Amino acid sequence: MRRPLVAGNWKMNGSLESVRSLLEGIKQGVGDVKNAEVAVCPPFIYIPEVEQLLSGSDVAWGGQDLSTESSGAYTGEVAASMLNDFGCKYVIVGHSERRTYHTESDQLVAKKFAAARAAGLAPILCIGETLEEREAGITNQVVARQLDAVIELEGVDALADGVIAYEPVWAIGTGKTATPDQAQEVHAFIRSRVADKSSSVADQLRILYGGSMKPGNAAELIGKPDIDGGLIGGASLKAEDFLGICTAAN
Ligand code: PEP
Repeated sequence: MRRPLVAGNWKMNGSLESVRSLLEGIKQGVGDVKNAEVAVCPPFIYIPEVEQLLSGSDVAWGGQDLSTESSGAYTGEVAASMLNDFGCKYVIVGHSERRTYHTESDQLVAKKFAAARAAGLAPILCIGETLEEREAGITNQVVARQLDAVIELEGVDALADGVIAYEPVWAIGTGKTATPDQAQEVHAFIRSRVADKSSSVADQLRILYGGSMKPGNAAELIGKPDIDGGLIGGASLKAEDFLGICTAAN
């Protein structure tokens, strides 16, 4: 039985004040969420504050990205060990915004996945197709390519240490959600591709859906057999909405 995970990706949003009040709200409501895991991924600069506020709670936290390197002359980068220093459990890798605005390739993302694992962090690997790719009928090809880059570098067993987030690019921050059936179809494809190499890894692998998930559509999405929670952008910035999704996962 896979325990659902609901992870908030705050992206580049917030202030010290809003971080404090958002976490206060989440902590107040999260006590009823016993059957799902909850995590937040703040901007790097707020991670020490988040650690202070969430230590001892049931909410985990993580980074939104990391360097492939362990230390050295890489201005602006953050190493996995630094995320470890501040209690991170998770780190997002390969978010479509990084793939698009920072031209991160499948191979670079695979190296980030490896760097996270090597430091004992659980990478949340984001994969997903653009609207053009969906319309061209190559969704499965695209997600297979993104997934295979990690399997080729690290082996299929490495996936057991992480989480996959299927995030159709056309659904991120657009208000357009994949229908539960559309999402389930791709999730089942991802799981079957992993199962071709290892059925035990496939059985335990959590595959989250991301793309305009809200309290109103979360239960139906997470109710699908291969959808094991959500990676939440916009709706993770309001305690009430985020908790609504956590409750649906619960
Ligand atoms: C995301 O960026 O990972 C995401 C799913 O964003 P949103 O929920 O805002 O679509």
